[in-house]
Amino acid sequence: MDDFVFVSGRLCLDLVGTQLWRRSRRTELLRFPDDLRRWITQAEVLDAPGPLDERDLSRVCRLREAVYTLVRAWPPAPQDRQALRDALAEVNEAARLPLPRHQLDESGCLARTGGIDEVLGAIARDAVDLLGGADFARMKECANPECTRLFIDLSRSAARRWCGMAECGNRQKVANYRMRQRRQPAP
Ligand SMILES: [Zn+2]
Repeated sequence: MDDFVFVSGRLCLDLVGTQLWRRSRRTELLRFPDDLRRWITQAEVLDAPGPLDERDLSRVCRLREAVYTLVRAWPPAPQDRQALRDALAEVNEAARLPLPRHQLDESGCLARTGGIDEVLGAIARDAVDLLGGADFARMKECANPECTRLFIDLSRSAARRWCGMAECGNRQKVANYRMRQRRQPAP
């Protein structure tokens, strides 16, 4: 069952997107350890995560919120640095964890293995690379004011506005179409 979406272009932002509509109808998609197990598999961080528990889930959600805090306020103005210190420490600490092991077998198949530490390491490493790299300048929030999904706009024209979910771009397109229809004189 493919139920999570990966439209952000970055692992750490796709994880941030597992909490929807953060300013209004805040909705948690990672409610149980099994949700996290499915996300890890669908995100292709590990092929087959072992059993996960509530503590693993809370570690990932803590890191997720620290990443969200940082990306919303990055780079920090001098007066904000104190407020971001905890989130920065959280992300930097996780970025020191080991990464998933990637190995090829003789048939050419890639195997990705590790535990929850490697998952946290991969997410934090991606966040640190994003915040410290050139792609961060292309980070946008979806133009649907309700939707709080973040993505990296790598389009050549840098004109991407929507996260890509049906409830965002499509709804707006339908509204624009109706508006144009109304403006046209009746035959
Ligand atoms: Zn959206």
